[in-house]
Parts: sequence; C-alpha cells; structure tokens
Amino acid sequence: MEPFYLRIALPTPLRGLFDYLPPQRVDPKALMPGIRIKVPFQSRTLIGILVEITTSTTVPDEKMKQVLEVIDEQPVLEADIDQLCQWAANYYHHSLGEVYAAAMPALLRKGKPADSKMDLLKTNEQQEKLPTLNDAQQCAVDMITKAKDHFQTFLLDGVTGSGKTEVYLRVIDEILKLDKQALVLVPEISLTPQTIARFRSRFSVPVLALHSNMTELARLKVWLAAKKGDAKIVIGTRSAIFTPFANLGLIIVDEEHDPSFKQQDRFRYHARDLAVMRASLNHIPIVLGSATPSLESILNVKRERYHYLSLPMRAGNAVLPQYQMIDLRYAKTEEGISDVLLKTMRENLDAGNQVMLFLNRRGFAPVLYCADCTWIAGCARCEARMVYHSKPSGLRCHHCDSRKKMPSCCEQCGADNLQPVGLGTQRLEQMLQTHFPSVPIIRVDRDSTQRKDALQTLLDQIHASPKAILLGTQMLAKGHHFPQVTLVGMVEADSGLFSADFRAAEQMGQLLLQVAGRAGRAEKPGTVLIQTRHPDHPLLKTLIEEGYQRFSEVLLTEREQALLPPFSYAAMFRAEAHAEKSASEFLTGVKKMCSAWLTDAVTVFGPVPALLAKRKGLHCQQLFVQSSHRGTLQGFLKRLLAEMDKEKGKQTVKWVLDVDPVA
Ligand code: ADP
Ligand code: ZN
Ligand code: ZN
Repeated sequence: MEPFYLRIALPTPLRGLFDYLPPQRVDPKALMPGIRIKVPFQSRTLIGILVEITTSTTVPDEKMKQVLEVIDEQPVLEADIDQLCQWAANYYHHSLGEVYAAAMPALLRKGKPADSKMDLLKTNEQQEKLPTLNDAQQCAVDMITKAKDHFQTFLLDGVTGSGKTEVYLRVIDEILKLDKQALVLVPEISLTPQTIARFRSRFSVPVLALHSNMTELARLKVWLAAKKGDAKIVIGTRSAIFTPFANLGLIIVDEEHDPSFKQQDRFRYHARDLAVMRASLNHIPIVLGSATPSLESILNVKRERYHYLSLPMRAGNAVLPQYQMIDLRYAKTEEGISDVLLKTMRENLDAGNQVMLFLNRRGFAPVLYCADCTWIAGCARCEARMVYHSKPSGLRCHHCDSRKKMPSCCEQCGADNLQPVGLGTQRLEQMLQTHFPSVPIIRVDRDSTQRKDALQTLLDQIHASPKAILLGTQMLAKGHHFPQVTLVGMVEADSGLFSADFRAAEQMGQLLLQVAGRAGRAEKPGTVLIQTRHPDHPLLKTLIEEGYQRFSEVLLTEREQALLPPFSYAAMFRAEAHAEKSASEFLTGVKKMCSAWLTDAVTVFGPVPALLAKRKGLHCQQLFVQSSHRGTLQGFLKRLLAEMDKEKGKQTVKWVLDVDPVA
C-alpha cells in the first residue's frame, strides 16, 4: 500500500509546508484539511493546520517524523477564512502556518478544544428613538443596502459628527433583517464601552466586542458565538478580521485611515486591505468610513474601484469649528503656550465650557540636558533620547521602555545643572494648574491610562465636569464625543511638516482634523487654535483654508510626481543585528542576489538605516523595493524569496519582509 503523508502548515517563520506520517490506527483519508495537528518540530512540539494529504514527499525516510496527535474532527477554520489566510500568506509572502495562527484565538493555538459552553448572550429589549436621516445619510444607506447581495466597496467620507455611525447602524439593521451578521472594525483606541453601548442600545440582538484586552477564554467564546451565528454583530480591532461567521452580510471599517489597522510585527498585514479582500471572497458589501480618508482609498475612488459616498454636513444642529493660527515666532509664550491661547482658554472656561489641549508627546520633557557640557540623556539600547517623566520621577525610553532613575548630576561632566527641555503632557499639566487652580485638569495619555478601565474612568470624569481642561495625546483625538468642548488648542502642529517619512504630512492632516473634530459637536460652536512656527506652510494653509479634500488632492499630486504609494507599490526588507555591519551586509547580499535579473520595472534602494537606526540594542537597516505595478512587485518578491530560501542555513541576522509598509 502506498504511504500517506500529512502536509501541515506550522507556526514558524519558515515559509513552506511540512510533511509528517499520520499516527498509527488513524485512517489518513478520513482526516479533513483545516483540522489542528500536534507534531514534533526541531526540539519542540507545535500545533499546525492540516493542508492536504499526499502520497509523495521530498523528506527522506530517515528524517520523516510522525504526528503526535490529531486534535480536531472538524476543521477549525471555515472555508472563507482559509481562503483569506491563503491569500494573505501569498500576498504578504509570509509563512502560512503563522497566518493561520494569527487567525485563531490563543486558546485554539494552544490546542484547547474548539467548543465552549456559551454564556447566555445578553440582549437589549428597548430600542432608542431614531433621528430622521438627512438626505445624504439616506442616500448612503440606500446605496449600501442595495449592494447587500454582492461585493462592493464604499468609501463613506464624512466629517466628524456628520452621522457616519448613524449610517452604519441603519445599514446593519437592514442586514440583520436578512438574518445576516455584521463585522465592525475599529481602531484599538476607539473601542470603548461607549462605542459598544451605542450599538447595544440600538439593537435587540447580541453585540459582542473582540479586542486584545479580553481574556483568552472570552475571546474564544466570542469567536465561537460568531461562528455559530449567535453573535449578530461583532465589533473588534484589527485581528477581528479573521473572525468566522455563519452568515456574514456586511463589513464596516470605521476610521479606515487609522494607522493602527496595520500590524507592525511578525505577520505584517493591513486589516483594512484584508477586509476588502474578505468582502470580495464573501460576496458582500464593505463600508470604509472616515472624516479623513487615506490617500489609498481616495485613489481607489478615482479609479472607480470604490463607490464614493459623502456626508458633507454635520448631523443635527452642530456646526463646524472655526480655525485660527497662532504664529509662535512672534507670540509671547510660557512653557510653549501663547498668551492668546491662554486668554481664549480662560474665556471659554469662564463661560462654563470645556477646553481641550492636544500635545502629541507624553512625559514631562522630551530631553534632559546638561547646561554645562550639553550632554543629553540617551537610551543605552536605542538611538533615542530618554524622556524625563515627573510622576513617577525618572527617565524612560519610549521605544524600548527602558527606565532609569533621574540622575542627580551630569553623567559626562558631573555638573549639577541638568535641565528638562521641551514640553510634554505632564509639564503642560503642571503649568496649567498654576494658571487655573480651580479648574479640573484631566490628562489622557498612555501613562495616565495604563491601568485597566483607567481610560473609561477619565472619560466618565470628563463627561461629569462641565468646566474642565482636557489635556492629552492623540488618544484624546480619536473617536470620542466631547459635546462640552468649545475650544481646541493644538499646542504644536509642526512635527508632521518636516519629516523623513513621506506619509507624515498625510497623518498630520488627519490628526489635526480629528482633533478639531472634537470641538463644537453638539449645539455649541467650536474654535480651533493652532500654534505653529510655519503659518505660511502651503500644506497647512491648504488644509485649514480649503479643507481635507483639497489637501489630499495636493498630496496625491505630490505622490504621483514622486512615484510614491499609492501610485506605486512598495515592500521593505528590514534586517536587525547587534552589529550594524551585519545588517547592512545581509541586505547588500539580498540586493546582489537579484541584480542579475533586475529590470527597469522594479527599483531597489538601500540598504539604509531605519528612521530609528537602533532599537533594543539592535541595529536596523532597510532595503526598499518598489514597482509601478503590483503584479510585477509580487512576482519579483516571489523569485527573490525563493533564492533567499536556498541560502537559509547561512543567514545569521533577523529579517522580515514588510509588504505595503507604513513607517
Ligand atoms: P460620526 O460617526 O460621523 O462622528 P454620528 O453618527 O456619531 O457621527 O453622529 C453625531 C451625532 O449626531 C450623534 O449624537 C448622532 O446621534 C447625531 N445624529 C446623527 N444623525 C442625525 C440626524 N440625521 N439627525 C439628528 N441627529 C443625528
Ligand atoms: Zn555635563
Ligand atoms: Zn530604548
């Protein structure tokens, strides 16, 4: 009798599948692809997914090992999730086994049974009173609902407060009537109890959340409830794109431009792009919503791949905020705050309103420096400065989280003259306390929200204090409703204007509008004061005077002229090593490998040091590959990786490939 082999995808970075002998007394032909299998691998045991059963193998007999255990009878991954994983492994040139692992809840990865007793799903009986949709909202709802039986991508472009969420809710309602389920992807930061509560109060069906802050068991339960068809609406962050559904009818990606949809380690996928692929595999509509759409999505609208829907007005009675720039070169300032901003804050607070200040830098001061010899406190493991924190006092690296006690004197000259330079949220808080001693100051940043539920406590505090100063980093800018805020101050708008990262300007514009969108959401009109040293910068002026649409047109033209994404397709090899030379030599070797068959259609730049050239003790170098044609780039990468796999044994540096990289 011919022997059978089980071909298995294993969670290891090695691309490729692995053949094993089936266990004794198991009929291999009865095994279904998609089940979990435990195998010996090097000196470990791994749990992989059965891909196929074959009768031929390239593994020599003496090396062939036997499976340890067949875990499932039924496949754990549904056919559509399997297809999505295969597509992703192929597109991102990543190990299929690792992609499967990313698609499964942790407990399934660890071999726990794929069933669990479900708690009774809580539902809500009473439905709130619905607002009457305006024409633009109605049109959007109609268009999306009309596509309910086929794949179509919609870009829902509407300023903050224009009623996008209301559109999502109405479309979901139509989908539920067809007894189908809906998946809503949101950025990590906006998945708050408020968001969940808004969906729950609308529908009388189970609405479940899925995010990294839940226990492994809770995540497995949601996953299973969706698979069974019991969870009608799942609201989740990035990895929820792999949730199985019995009958998925709609995908929504809210804040589609948000960089947090991009996974930045190991399997580096973009959840928005996978969501579009999944909708196409499932033949269902998908809605990408944003007040500040990504240039990628705007271009897809221009190329007629996406259908454009716009909500040009704020819903209800809310009006858009007024912008005003403060030229920091001429303003009188104290700790980075101009007297104009201080005065306007006082006026708004005296009127019994809230004021919000935005500063994208946590800690007390970004630099600690010796005024005698100009020594600067740096991180020993990263090419970065240590940030001075006042509460608790000490130095911290924001890249590797190294911590150090506050030095009492200079490490270089011994002088007792160390000075914090620059402004962080803690320093701003301290300064504001002296100016507004009787006003509650609520600081929201990564430090103040570390404990579980801390963010929610702060948000509750904000809603309970009619007169308050809210102070925070971009955490404060996203997704939350602050109807009492009448003034928003951008303490510093310039960092995005002069960056080595070509996406910095786009992200600066998106963040600025997100922040501004917090003001004047309800009946109270808002003002946005922007402090800048470059009030004449053409991009800043375009954004403020002509709006995001014109701003994005200008950026798109720039990208087209420079042949940058989305007008070209990019991939990045990143290599890390203890010695800078090893990393760069490795990448130079990669470049040499393809030089023989490199054509004009593909450009390879580098190697160059990464923006953060050293991190956690490792030097990071990059090799950038670009082509104006996606298929050409894909073919090139495939060929190159096959060559590299042949040299696998000799590689000593850690490297990854990042397709469609986002810095
Ligand atoms: P977005 O998601 O675009 O920020 P929301 O859907 O959250 O906007 O709407 C902002 C506010 O306006 C919410 O309080 C919502 O209940 C309200 N709203 C939405 N649509 C309407 C409407 N057609 N009429 C009155 N109020 C509305
Ligand atoms: Zn010194
Ligand atoms: Zn560090």
